[in-house]
Amino acid sequence: MGRDASVVGASRSLSSNPRDETIFLVPLACCREVVSFMANPLNPERLEVVILSVDIDWAPDFAIEALIRRLDRHQARATLFLTHQSSALAELDPRRYELGLHPHLPDRLDLASALSTLSPLAPQARGVRFHRLIQSTPLMAELGRAGFLYDASLLIPYQTHLRPFRFPPPLIRIPYAWEDDVHAMTNKPWTLESIDIEAPGLRIFDFHPIHVFLNTDSPSRYEAAKKEGFTLEACRRLQHSGPGTSTFLDDLLAYVHRRRVEMWTLLELAQAVSRGHVPEGCFSS
Ligand SMILES: [Zn+2]
Repeated sequence: MGRDASVVGASRSLSSNPRDETIFLVPLACCREVVSFMANPLNPERLEVVILSVDIDWAPDFAIEALIRRLDRHQARATLFLTHQSSALAELDPRRYELGLHPHLPDRLDLASALSTLSPLAPQARGVRFHRLIQSTPLMAELGRAGFLYDASLLIPYQTHLRPFRFPPPLIRIPYAWEDDVHAMTNKPWTLESIDIEAPGLRIFDFHPIHVFLNTDSPSRYEAAKKEGFTLEACRRLQHSGPGTSTFLDDLLAYVHRRRVEMWTLLELAQAVSRGHVPEGCFSS
């Protein structure tokens, strides 16, 4: 256990479910602290935030624009992992959107050349998610040496109790449990209940603009749009009318609004980890 052992231990000694029980266990004089602890989104047993991440994945501008408009309408916040220059990403509110990089390393693990292409799109970027979730220990070490604070390339589908960790230190690794195209490969319904959204652990979601536009419900819908070159006409014609990626995003945004859940960017999470406000997993320097 790393630097946050005391934080984790403190919460566990209070209760496994501090929101429901701790208020009855402390003297009245402490109530203010307990209430603030209970309301604290940094509660280490259950990080009370939702994080949206978006892999741009060379989506057509109309799909990116539609997604940004929707997120704007909901005053949502998100981390956008960039793959290319797009006018749809030109005037984003920096208070609500973090820009990260989405390097594609098709032939060999040449991070330096990928970053030299991508970094000008977002010179301040501190985070990366690799296209196709490519990972290796040397690659992550190189990312750390290049000055990045975190990587978010580790998908562990439907796993609860996820925590950030550092490997290799000091790079912060942020695992996530849900991605639209992976959900489309399953037979799970497109509902929040299907992912146990109330379970402890990081709640980080990964959407792709093209899947939101198509309201993708199965890989075949995406493949059909790909065959037609992702033209606006084809994508409109192929939009799914039932439950799918788009309706899932609607449900998630409604949940966030209804439950007044804070939305963070991945950078805010990584910075909270750096400050020791969010407990890390078992490997830390
Ligand atoms: Zn990608």
